[in-house]
Amino acid sequence: MKNIKDMLDFHKSHKHVFLYQFDEGREYAGLTGKYLSLCSFPVEGVITAGGKNEKSAALKKGEGPYWTIEEVREKFAPGECGVILSVFDFLLNAALGSLTEAGFHNVFFITDYYRKKIQEKLTPRTKENFILEVNLADHCNLNCQMCDHFSPLAEKHFLDPRTFIQDMGRLADLTDNTAGVIKILGGEPLLNPDTPDFLIAARGLFPQSRILLYTNGLLLAEWETKHKANLWEICRRFNARIMVTTYPINFDYAKIDALAVKHKTPYSRFVEESENDLDKNTALYNVLGEREKKSVHHPLSPAGNVPVHEFIDCYHFNRCITLSGGKLYTCPIIPYAKYFSAFFDKPLKTRGNDFIDIYAARDFEEIAEFLSRPVPFCRYCKVSSRKGGVDFRLSKKAIEEWT
Ligand code: SF4
Ligand code: SF4
Repeated sequence: MKNIKDMLDFHKSHKHVFLYQFDEGREYAGLTGKYLSLCSFPVEGVITAGGKNEKSAALKKGEGPYWTIEEVREKFAPGECGVILSVFDFLLNAALGSLTEAGFHNVFFITDYYRKKIQEKLTPRTKENFILEVNLADHCNLNCQMCDHFSPLAEKHFLDPRTFIQDMGRLADLTDNTAGVIKILGGEPLLNPDTPDFLIAARGLFPQSRILLYTNGLLLAEWETKHKANLWEICRRFNARIMVTTYPINFDYAKIDALAVKHKTPYSRFVEESENDLDKNTALYNVLGEREKKSVHHPLSPAGNVPVHEFIDCYHFNRCITLSGGKLYTCPIIPYAKYFSAFFDKPLKTRGNDFIDIYAARDFEEIAEFLSRPVPFCRYCKVSSRKGGVDFRLSKKAIEEWT
């Protein structure tokens, strides 16, 4: 399979489509079924290689619909059936052999790359690997082109510490005070004079979480002289790591590196964050090297006609989980696209099913399941046209930066 669209084309060209569950592949078959059904490409069911015993065991667990190979052959002509295989690459030949022996020759197999991607995106997050993002300020003092929080277009807006404490308190109740990573960011969070209060509150509610303060660093050196509370000391005492994104601008980064050393504050300065680094329970990375920070173009389609299957390639999806106004979003694009809509007079609609209200949610499981599904807003995101590695520039506030 070259890309996910090939699988959907295979689906379209067969009258009856099944998934094949082989050996260790139960989880993958289930998640592939979930993906296809979310894209409105439902399957007839799952064929179990293990026959009747495996089928009845699965049905007892409430899974299904399940078929044995014999049942499918009795009801359908194998030539009319397409079978999708989602197994480890090393099991491919064995799985393929058992299907062709039974007369099923129209078989499509998913590459390890997409099998892992479907698993990563569609598995509801646990509390321990929940990654939560909160903007302390929606606007920014740098204004990079193509900012995916739309900060160059944002009006001046600070988060109120009381709102933060209330919403984070509700999340702490729902998660038993457990969340893998809490990212405090913006816009530029340090524009918010109450930044230390947010960090102290977050640590009080989530004693074990990794708390990361993402900043462009421009205000760090002057923080000590301009504010009463010493941010460096507070980050050290409350174990919040300062994460400085390094831009190709005329700025004395060495000065803030030295301040971090002076205050013994957990501190990283990086160019690009690797997706996997946050999943590792290790000391955080410090990527500098020779590379230069680049921009990423995330074009929107104001017509809202993007095929839903594209969400699987979106790196924000179910990863940059954003808390805003008592609601959780699977990404930051949804809550902050309002600034794009207002600035360019291109209304992108946010509907009630684009987010989950944390006060209406029954429990954490309902939230995690919601965040592992695409939402109507995804139809505005041209994920397949995204382009990284664009030379960094400041924003001209031109619509082409976001379309
Ligand atoms: S520093 Fe650049 S990318 Fe980060 S929030 Fe500000 S404008 Fe956006
Ligand atoms: S709206 Fe959907 S496709 Fe767009 S960034 Fe968010 S999760 Fe990704």
